[in-house]
Amino acid sequence: MVMGELIQETEILVIGSGPGGYAAAFRAADLGMDVAMVDTAERPGGVCLFQGCIPSKTFLYLAELILDAGRSSAMGVTFERPRIDIEAVRAWKADVIDRLAGGLVRLSDRRGVQRIKGRAVFNGLDTVRIQGGDVSGIRFQHAIIATGSQTIPLPGMAFKPGGRVMDSTGALALQDVPHSLLVVGGGYVGLELGTVYAALGSEIHLVELGPRILPGLDADLAKPLSRSLDKIFTTIQPNTRVSKINERDGGVDVTLETTDATTTKQFDRVLVAIGRKPDTDGLGLEKANIELDEHGFIRVDEQMRTTGNGIFAVGDVVGGMMLAHKASYEGKIAAEVIAGRPAAFDARAIPAVVYTDPQIAWCGITEEEARQKNLDIKVQRFPWKFSGRAMTMGATDGLTKIIVDSASQRILGVGVVGRDAEGLIAEAVLAIEMGALAEDVALSIHAHPTLSETEAEVAEGILGSATHMLVKR
Ligand SMILES: Cc1cc2nc3c(=O)[nH]c(=O)nc-3n(C[C@H](O)[C@H](O)[C@H](O)COP(=O)(O)OP(=O)(O)OC[C@H]3O[C@@H](n4cnc5c(N)ncnc54)[C@H](O)[C@@H]3O)c2cc1C
Repeated sequence: MVMGELIQETEILVIGSGPGGYAAAFRAADLGMDVAMVDTAERPGGVCLFQGCIPSKTFLYLAELILDAGRSSAMGVTFERPRIDIEAVRAWKADVIDRLAGGLVRLSDRRGVQRIKGRAVFNGLDTVRIQGGDVSGIRFQHAIIATGSQTIPLPGMAFKPGGRVMDSTGALALQDVPHSLLVVGGGYVGLELGTVYAALGSEIHLVELGPRILPGLDADLAKPLSRSLDKIFTTIQPNTRVSKINERDGGVDVTLETTDATTTKQFDRVLVAIGRKPDTDGLGLEKANIELDEHGFIRVDEQMRTTGNGIFAVGDVVGGMMLAHKASYEGKIAAEVIAGRPAAFDARAIPAVVYTDPQIAWCGITEEEARQKNLDIKVQRFPWKFSGRAMTMGATDGLTKIIVDSASQRILGVGVVGRDAEGLIAEAVLAIEMGALAEDVALSIHAHPTLSETEAEVAEGILGSATHMLVKR
């Protein structure tokens, strides 16, 4: 790299340093390439570290503690009502983020990845202009776009920093614990943040446009979560549209429409969690011949190549499952392809986890998807009331479910709802990646008593006989 010039040169320019961008940059540097990584933020981490996965999971861990403590009286141990020091909670979150961001800075520096602060805008086939940074432009041999995504506001409405109508970033700032919070959207972000505020003491009202929470997920997996949310949320209203929001001093007036009625209700705060859109605004993609698909995501092939010569794109900006681990996986593929390795997106299973109480996790195909595709499948469920470990933790309202190909009994999909679903799904991902049959999982010894036994038992069920459950033949 030629330093000290207005226009720098680099072998690989990574635009955006979220989990897609920094994974790409680190892999490229490990493969011996010269890498510069630009971001508008001071430190790497992206939405995931500063406004997404990490702050939400920091708060959700506290929510889990509070909810668990509330349940333990049924087992003979009663805790006092928690006292919440909101400043200390915010400081704890900030400290977690700070330590992780510091780690990423050190990992970048030790690998020799040059970090540049500023906004990159394409101004040619192989150059970007850097706005608001020390460097004015960069010429690259290859570029990897990893600019991520942004929150979507309700039509005709914009999020104001510090306002009472919040996006997920505003909610994670935890300005206060409002008496009443309306959550708009029954996807994972709305459910997770609703759970945080409910545990901290807010009255949660949730509205969802569709007929149920977590649309797209098998209904049997969503059910135990719905039962639990019915206890910690005050109201959950499906088939409801927010048609008007009026923020005023001290509260928000929200007009809600159903097929039967239109009502206006008052809330202290509103969280709008209706999805995210790719962040391509003002990137100058046309200057580099980069095309978008019909939904506005950057079009890529299985090697993460865009239509721009030598330019790749990864992460939320290319669509698919908008998750951090998917972004990182793609980032590494792009780096390897640039290095001349035969890498391609060929994952058979991408896990998705909803960190609610109980958690939900799934990977591979869902039952609904398999039925829509008319696949010849066999489905087996193992209700957690048959699990000794679930019983010891009072966590019997859970389910492990497996979907296999009828003829071969190859595992196509797994879903788990219950405590520690986040950990349990890893075995299923590996099984699907390795092309495992139900028998492979059934014959692998699972420690007792653990929740992982539910995965062995559900696989045994496919074979016709499970130790702790009578299998219908
Ligand atoms: C509340 C919330 C909770 C979430 N929880 C989870 C979770 O538990 N697990 C999970 O897997 N995913 C979770 N996600 C999703 C996850 O955050 C994203 O999938 C992930 O961050 C995408 O990574 P990325 O690298 O594509 O982009 P991002 O993380 O969005 O990073 C993009 C980066 O690019 C920078 N940038 C944008 N434009 C430019 C430009 N022109 N020039 C320079 N820099 C630019 C941005 O500043 C940003 O730092 C959550 C998201 C939210 C909002």
